[in-house]
Amino acid sequence: MWDRDLLSGQVALVTGASSGIGRACAEALARAGARVAVNHLPAETAEARSLVGSIRDAGGEAIPVVADVSTEDQVRSMFAEVVGAFGTLHILVNNAGIQSDAAFTDMTLDQWRKVIEINLTGQFLCAREAVREFLRRGPQPEVSKALGKIVCMSSVHQTIPWAGHANYAASKGGLALLMQTIAQEFASHRIRVNANAPGAIRTPINRDAWSSEEAAEELLALIPYGRIGEPGDIADAVCWLVSDLSDYVTGTTLYVDGGMTLYPGFRENG
Ligand code: NDP
Repeated sequence: MWDRDLLSGQVALVTGASSGIGRACAEALARAGARVAVNHLPAETAEARSLVGSIRDAGGEAIPVVADVSTEDQVRSMFAEVVGAFGTLHILVNNAGIQSDAAFTDMTLDQWRKVIEINLTGQFLCAREAVREFLRRGPQPEVSKALGKIVCMSSVHQTIPWAGHANYAASKGGLALLMQTIAQEFASHRIRVNANAPGAIRTPINRDAWSSEEAAEELLALIPYGRIGEPGDIADAVCWLVSDLSDYVTGTTLYVDGGMTLYPGFRENG
């Protein structure tokens, strides 16, 4: 666990923070000393309130902020609310994401659009507002070496094709170049943009893949490290990626996947 000095004086916004990986990131960033804005959809108010309460009970600072990340005016209002409450923003964890799976020939245009709008357009809208705020505020070298940091929550499926999930794989593949392009455009401003690509992490998004013994066994065959990941595995990596410990890291994807991208099917010589 990181200590409070790691991110003290910094403000972080985590999207989709009412469950799973986003929740773990919000908790870990707060433990590392950041003031945290917990983004959630209107339906998740109780979960977001309980997260904010637990961060405050542990001595941290947090506020809930409602927005659908795929809606431009809601994203702009959310950033205005965060800056109004905390003065600025130093860290964006672009985490909100969904799956809507279907065989390719059955996938509807609505399924395609919804996943692209939340997983890809949502990350564009939030990253754009974050970069605007970093540039407006200017350097604060006493707080962080970088002007600002963005982590895009991607997936091993930015690399591994995924039958039955064309919309999801396309959204994460697109994200890889979106992330690198923003990183390239703003590196000279000392804005660092990176991606975290989780493997199989135990959260509601993939409950079917781990909740029964048979499913978990099938999943484990794809994970050389021999265990399903936990949200905290991702949160620890995110804390490092947004801290000065990784100050020379930008435009890269950190795979946190227990070796899932090592082509385990080739272990016995293919
Ligand atoms: P969860 O379903 O637990 O979390 C996703 C969060 O995003 C939920 O809180 C969800 O709210 C929120 N959300 C969905 N749509 C929107 C929206 N339009 N605006 C704001 N928030 C929204 O899943 P994970 O924690 O697993 O997923 C987090 C990220 O990690 C995603 O980007 C996912 O693609 C990525 N990931 C996850 C992996 C895993 O194995 N778990 C593997 C690789 C990547 P609600 O619950 O109300 O829908």
